[in-house]
Amino acid sequence: MSDTGPFQRLYRVQQLDLDLDRLRAEEGNVPDALRDARAGQERLNNELEDIEIALEGVEKSIRQLEQDLAGTRDQAQRAREEQDKNAFDARTQSQYGSRIQMLGERAEEMEEDLSPLRERQRDLSAKAADLRAEHRALRPTLTDLEAQDEARVQALRDQGAGMRDERAALVANLDSRTVKEYDLIRRAKKGVGIAEIQGGRCTGCNVNLPVNVQQRAVQGKMPPVKCPSCGRFLIRLN
Ligand SMILES: [Zn+2]
Repeated sequence: MSDTGPFQRLYRVQQLDLDLDRLRAEEGNVPDALRDARAGQERLNNELEDIEIALEGVEKSIRQLEQDLAGTRDQAQRAREEQDKNAFDARTQSQYGSRIQMLGERAEEMEEDLSPLRERQRDLSAKAADLRAEHRALRPTLTDLEAQDEARVQALRDQGAGMRDERAALVANLDSRTVKEYDLIRRAKKGVGIAEIQGGRCTGCNVNLPVNVQQRAVQGKMPPVKCPSCGRFLIRLN
């Protein structure tokens, strides 16, 4: 069998196909460091979002309560003014007196409610600031890792481009029906369209091959002989 015979060329096509499969699989093989950095950033983003939503809710409650408090204080102020205007009317005085007291108690309650809300606002703001700092600290690392990974993927694609060119040149000089059949077998048989014969067995499915099949494989003629068991093209390299 000549080294540059059609069957050898078809076998080279398969080697290229397997290498291209490997390259494609490798593309998705993101390094652990990048995977971790991406996951870290994602986690920080999610935590920050949760905290910002909580903070928004707390700040809304604070604004509402502060507004109510200001309104209550205004009412108390007006009641005091009315009380002063009616300095000589004991009954009205007393009515305004109890109103002022009631408004004062209400304002105190609001202040008591505000205090834990403000504390929570401070806690959440501090946490958000910490997370933002962590996020900023991670960014340069992540940017570097992403750039490295883009270069890694590009190198794999460049490598693949050369292989695809070689494959196209080989296929152009082969019988198109045989190539089509090889493609179909390869697709059906886990990416391997041509199996080597070793020790009288098909390495694709491990079946013991009849002697006449082995002999025909040694001749290396086209179209290639197929394994009677798995249907792959058979090749004997030595
Ligand atoms: Zn087989």
